[in-house]
Amino acid sequence: MFIGAHMSSPLSTVPERTVKIGGNTFQIFSHSPRIWKISVNESEREKFKSEMKVWNIDANKVLVHASYLINLASPKDEVWQRSKALLKEEMKIAHLLGLKYVNVHPGSKLKESLEWGLKRCAQAIKEVHDDSPKDVTLILEIVAPKGGNIGYNFEQLQKIKDIAKVDLKFTYDTCHGFDGGYDITTKRGMEDLVNEIKATIGMKNLLMCHLNDSKYPLGSAKDRHERIGRGYIGIKGFLNFFSFEEFQKIPLILETPGKDEEHAQDILTVRKIFSQLGINNTK
Ligand code: ZN
Ligand code: MN
Ligand code: MN
Repeated sequence: MFIGAHMSSPLSTVPERTVKIGGNTFQIFSHSPRIWKISVNESEREKFKSEMKVWNIDANKVLVHASYLINLASPKDEVWQRSKALLKEEMKIAHLLGLKYVNVHPGSKLKESLEWGLKRCAQAIKEVHDDSPKDVTLILEIVAPKGGNIGYNFEQLQKIKDIAKVDLKFTYDTCHGFDGGYDITTKRGMEDLVNEIKATIGMKNLLMCHLNDSKYPLGSAKDRHERIGRGYIGIKGFLNFFSFEEFQKIPLILETPGKDEEHAQDILTVRKIFSQLGINNTK
C-alpha cells in the first residue's frame, strides 16, 4: 500500500519525516500556497531530491498540491490569467523537484453557469498543459459542492477533460465526495461510486486518493476534514471503502487535522483497517 500525508515545509525534511510517521509517499505545496510569488531555494531543492533517494520514495506516488489562490474557472479575467501563470510555474517547479503530478482544484465559476465554468476551466487546463514540461501531469481533484465550485462529480470532471482534450488524471477526496453525497459507508454507495467512475473518467485515470474523514454528515458540502475514524465516515465506513479493491492500491494521502504525530496515528489507523480486511498492508 502507498500511504502518507500532506507534509509541512521545509521540503528537504519531508522524505525523512514521511518514513518516520510510517508512510512511504506524501503531498506537498511546492511554495507558500497563499501568496502569488514563487521562490524556491535551489539548494533546498537539490537536498530534497537527494533525500528522496536516501529514503527510497517513489516520485510516481507523490503529489504536489497547487496553490489555493489558483482559480481556473474564475470569471474575473485578472484572476484567471494569474491562475494560469502560477499553475504553469508550479508545473515547472514540480519538474525541477523530480516530481510527476500536480493536483489542482477545477475552481469556482462564482455566479456563472455550470457549462460556462466547465469550458473556462478546460481552456485554462489546455493552456497550462501545452505550456508545461511533458514529464509532469495535471491531476484534477473532486471538490465539495460549495461556493460555485465545479468538478464535484465525475461527470463534470470528465467533461472538463473532454473539452480540454489533454491527458488529465484525477484525485478522489473521501471528504469532498462525502460532502457531495457519495456514501462510501455503504456497499450500495460504493458500487454506485465505482460504477460512476467506470462510466466517466475510467478507473485507470483515478490515480490518487485524498484520505479524509468528514466533520459533517453525508451531503453537507462543508469541506471540513476530520481525523480518520473520528468523523461521519468512521472506521466502519473506511472498512467498507477499502473492501473495494479499486481503492487499495492507489496512493492514500491524508489531509487530516494535526501535524506529524497525528498523521502517524492516522496512518496506523488505516493500516489496522487494512489488516482487519486481510489485505497486505506493507510496502
Ligand atoms: Zn485539494
Ligand atoms: Mn483534498
Ligand atoms: Mn478539502
